[in-house]
Amino acid sequence: MKALKIDHIGIAVKNLDETLKFYTDVLGLEVGGTEVVEEQKVKVAFLPVGDSEVELLESTSEDGPIAKFIEKNGEGIQHIAFKVDNIEEAIAFMQEKGMKMIDEQPRYGAGGAKIAFVHPKSSNRVLVELSQRD
Ligand code: ZN
Repeated sequence: MKALKIDHIGIAVKNLDETLKFYTDVLGLEVGGTEVVEEQKVKVAFLPVGDSEVELLESTSEDGPIAKFIEKNGEGIQHIAFKVDNIEEAIAFMQEKGMKMIDEQPRYGAGGAKIAFVHPKSSNRVLVELSQRD
């Protein structure tokens, strides 16, 4: 397995519309798309930048993972996603290496990606997402 690039950086925000102003008006990025991912109780906005993207995440529910993250840590960088070309192989490889996976099976991610999270205990407290987008 080899991580191919930083696919995106996931940033937890309280208010997507408010936060977007910084990324669009100040940094000059454009919103590539928005999506509600029900399963993760989150509304997502993608802003492509070069070969990568910023992913802004606003919780749609008080008990969602992003709401809990903000409650604990405040707003800020929540995860870093690495692009892989085969998510099933990547998960198996990580497990062979003794990494603890949050997702042992790929699940649906925004934009139609197949994603899996590595447990932060296995990655120096950084929440790492593996992402395969065809
Ligand atoms: Zn992500």
